[in-house]
Amino acid sequence: MTQKKIESLRPTYALIDLKSFAHNIEQARSLSGTDIIAIIKADGYGHGALKMAEYAWRNCGVKRFGVATVLEGMILREHLGREPMIFLLGYVDQFLHEELFSNNLIPAVFDDEIASAYHSYLVKHDRTADITLKIDTGMHRLGYQPDMDYYSFTVKYPRFRVCHVMSHLSSSDTDLEYSNHQKELFSAFIKKNHIKSNTSLLNSSGIANIKNEFSLARPGIMLYGYLYGNNEVALKKVMRIYSKVVHIKRIKSGETVSYNRRFTADREMTVGVVPIGYADGYSRRFSNRAEMRVNGVNCPVLGTVCMDMTMIDLTNVPLNGMYPEVEILGDNITADKWAELADTISYEVLCGISDRIPRIYKD
Ligand SMILES: *Cc1c(COP(=O)(O)O)cnc(C)c1O
Repeated sequence: MTQKKIESLRPTYALIDLKSFAHNIEQARSLSGTDIIAIIKADGYGHGALKMAEYAWRNCGVKRFGVATVLEGMILREHLGREPMIFLLGYVDQFLHEELFSNNLIPAVFDDEIASAYHSYLVKHDRTADITLKIDTGMHRLGYQPDMDYYSFTVKYPRFRVCHVMSHLSSSDTDLEYSNHQKELFSAFIKKNHIKSNTSLLNSSGIANIKNEFSLARPGIMLYGYLYGNNEVALKKVMRIYSKVVHIKRIKSGETVSYNRRFTADREMTVGVVPIGYADGYSRRFSNRAEMRVNGVNCPVLGTVCMDMTMIDLTNVPLNGMYPEVEILGDNITADKWAELADTISYEVLCGISDRIPRIYKD
């Protein structure tokens, strides 16, 4: 199918604004005062990892990327060539060590079992590799404890080149005191062990709230225009979702809308059908709660969100016989708003927007 046909399957699409992405990259750099590892895991937080990484690499001078899985890393390597540094932030299954090292993906080493497994592979293939050493300063997910013996580590695993030492904040968006405690532990570790390689601690909220004393930072969500909590950071939203009303009907007072009749009209109403539903990542929790924006008017969702369609109230929208455009996500109805309605965070909302919604890129 041609791009045109794919886009015309349904009038629902996500517009990805690459200039805004570039703006956010610059914000992340200037706030952190260092270069960044651009985090593009989970398909670039739902924006399309390849396109985002390619743009950052070619137009913004980003040389380091962070991914969650070997597959994400392999695809990026194939697409961007040999030069970019690709950091794997998570766990790698032993069946994938070949893919990991032959693609020069930089794994995080976070305990002796993993270290031995990687190191045996390198010995067997008579080679060395860059790695990230991951220190657990309080997230209690992955990482060596800060009292680990760094010198012994380097002696025991001579085929590792520790090019990066990192730790991760657990509460950078909600608890400054705990974050600073983690920062002190990490700084002390670096100092005690005379670490000369690159170091990083701060994710997006960390960058916004804490002074960066390390040589790199690892922004994710802020590159896409969101940050949890109050802040003064001037970010631009990268994704907007638009659609069109595809069907309009009038209903009478007392009539009901959608599955299980969870909405009853209390007057004569105009109902519009919009082709987006929970299979697209438009949560069923938005039933009777969310709004979409049509011709400058916020239109409540009526009744239950279906798998592929959602009904909205067009009663107050001047229609003049046209099927109007609908803003579903954007500056007026943000991912934070979606998150509030679905009792989650913007991260989950964004990476939950399914592949069925075509991404259209605008430079
Ligand atoms: C996801 C992730 C980040 C980016 O976090 P944001 O809050 O999106 O900025 C940074 N570091 C690690 C280890 C991560 O897993």
